[in-house]
Amino acid sequence: MATEVKAASALTAAAPKLPPARLFIGGEWVEAEGGRTFATENPATEEVICAVASAGAADVDRAVAAAKAALAGDWKKLSARERGRLLWKIADALEARIDEFALLETLDNGKPIFESRYVDVPAAIDALRYFAGWADKVTGETLPIGGPFVLAYTLREPVGVIAAITPWNFPLIQALWKIAPALACGNTVVHKPASYTPLTALKFAELASEAGLPPGVLNVLPGRGSEVGNALVEHPEVAKITFTGSTEVGKDIMRGAAATVKRVTLELGGKSPNIVFADADLDAAVKGAYNGIFYGKGEVCAAGSRLFVEAKVHDELVERLVERTKKLVPGDPLDPRTRLGALVSGKQRETVLGYVEEGRREGARVVHGGEAVAIGGKGYFLQPTILDGVTNEMKVAQEEIFGPVLVTIPFEDAKDAVRQANASIYGLAAGVWTRDIGKAHQVARDLQAGTVWINQYNWYDSGMPFGGYKQSGFGRELGSQALEYYTETKSVFVGK
Ligand code: NDP
Repeated sequence: MATEVKAASALTAAAPKLPPARLFIGGEWVEAEGGRTFATENPATEEVICAVASAGAADVDRAVAAAKAALAGDWKKLSARERGRLLWKIADALEARIDEFALLETLDNGKPIFESRYVDVPAAIDALRYFAGWADKVTGETLPIGGPFVLAYTLREPVGVIAAITPWNFPLIQALWKIAPALACGNTVVHKPASYTPLTALKFAELASEAGLPPGVLNVLPGRGSEVGNALVEHPEVAKITFTGSTEVGKDIMRGAAATVKRVTLELGGKSPNIVFADADLDAAVKGAYNGIFYGKGEVCAAGSRLFVEAKVHDELVERLVERTKKLVPGDPLDPRTRLGALVSGKQRETVLGYVEEGRREGARVVHGGEAVAIGGKGYFLQPTILDGVTNEMKVAQEEIFGPVLVTIPFEDAKDAVRQANASIYGLAAGVWTRDIGKAHQVARDLQAGTVWINQYNWYDSGMPFGGYKQSGFGRELGSQALEYYTETKSVFVGK
């Protein structure tokens, strides 16, 4: 039974401008083979937003053929600089419609409009501009080679048709973190968005097409992961899979990609440690621990979901964190004051609540939250939750919960903190809070994580690579490093 919470304002019946809810293939909006559809729902109201075409294997064939044809068509004729200009133009068009995209993201995902409007869509625009700038700077090398050669040089070429498979937690950001570098490097893309949140991907395809992206360069196929995803992974004409999602599906993709030796990059789960030393600015650390787990409803791959606190300040810090958390009440995602929206689905909330139960069974104490919440009797809301009395071996400390649930664990010293933090199959991100600059850098070096934030958490920049160690995946998104994963290098030797 969900506890009822009064919304700060009634759930606004906003009328979003919906994109065509069909498949986007070769620049056309088309029905799925057999006319199949699925419903996408607003997780805050449990109402269906619209029916969306559900692609199958035959649609994957059509989309891959369109993407392959585009590789050799008008897209190839554009110079790298023209590609960059086009990406920049698309970014401008997105910026001009930022409110529309933010509204749609919030309705489809349940995240607060504050996040969609001021973080998600701006970050997607920023990624487009960042990679637009790179388009004409992806260069090869010439080598001072001798012997029978007058010249040796390398070319950086597009990989080919890229299949981008994205999750539901940051739908537009995740899509653009893949689409922008792929297009900047001259590839074409077939994008499969998550079934919970297909709408901004379709709307983006509409916008990009209106801005002049040639047909077939970007194709969008909503549909079941097991079907569309598998068909993309197995398709011989897909050159590369770029995937963000669960570690389990990532492993399936690796296995599937082996048959055709596809390039694969995986951005997978995490169970990121956020480490607070006794000498930290505790006010800042409390805020960082809070944002680290509750931002994005905790449905964040890099969420600081394991809070390690030096034993001598552990109880004080947890108490202060609980006090702060008491003020965080789930609310109407469309209310600009809301900071905790609805989880993406009833299923996801059940999974998260299952972990809270598991934590209790393992001996953890729920010091705040732990209950489902409804607004007007509806919605997949959940109280922000803190579990104390946790040890790093417990399931709640080892598995990705992917919701607003924090576990707190004491540690003795830096060595103990690093040992416990690294005792995880994951290695996506980590936080370190201390005023001792030498210790901060040493711990940052010792942590097995793709990103370390010092006296900060959850900060991203299009210029900084993002990705995981260990089972959090491989390859990097963003930064100049991302370009490595969207190009092939060809060596050319010129004889005398
Ligand atoms: P998935 O990994 O199943 O979904 C991510 C994407 O992969 C979706 O587009 C999904 O499609 C697609 N997909 C699903 N199965 C396959 C397949 N066999 N082959 C190719 N693509 C596939 O995540 P879930 O939505 O099931 O979430 C489960 C858990 O995964 C979460 O609780 C969380 O722990 C983790 N997760 C991690 C994310 C991250 O950012 N690292 C993001 C999302 C989830 P469809 O939506 O149609 O199923």
